Amino acid sequence: MPDSEKRRTRPPAGKKPLNVYIDVDHTILLSTANELHLRPGTREAVARLKAAGHRVYIWSASGASHCHRVVELHGLGEWVDGCFDKDPAVEPPPDLIIDDDWYLVEKYGGFAVRPFRSLDPKDDELLRVLEELESLGHL
Ligand SMILES: [Mg+2]
Repeated sequence: MPDSEKRRTRPPAGKKPLNVYIDVDHTILLSTANELHLRPGTREAVARLKAAGHRVYIWSASGASHCHRVVELHGLGEWVDGCFDKDPAVEPPPDLIIDDDWYLVEKYGGFAVRPFRSLDPKDDELLRVLEELESLGHL
């Protein structure tokens, strides 16, 4: 199976608005000793998802307050519909997730990204996810 297919599981087909849950740590955020770095492409990803009519949620095993902090710090608020703890009973239920944890992507469906562990201005993981969503008709 090609790598691009292996990283894509059960994304719902069609045009309906999706509940998209995006992980924080090592998906859109790199924490260093004195800074919280936003992954390249994060703003474009949340803006395009929102513009396409989807609901964009940020969630984290570190809790909703961690998500709020990152959303505020990096000015993502206008595109984000809510912040949550990573709880399997979260409402509304995720239609797809974007996460660096392949196990969770298998569980919920969505897209796995390479863990964001170092700063790379050419990092295009999130743009790649946008391309796949576009090819599936979601953008
Ligand atoms: Mg993570």
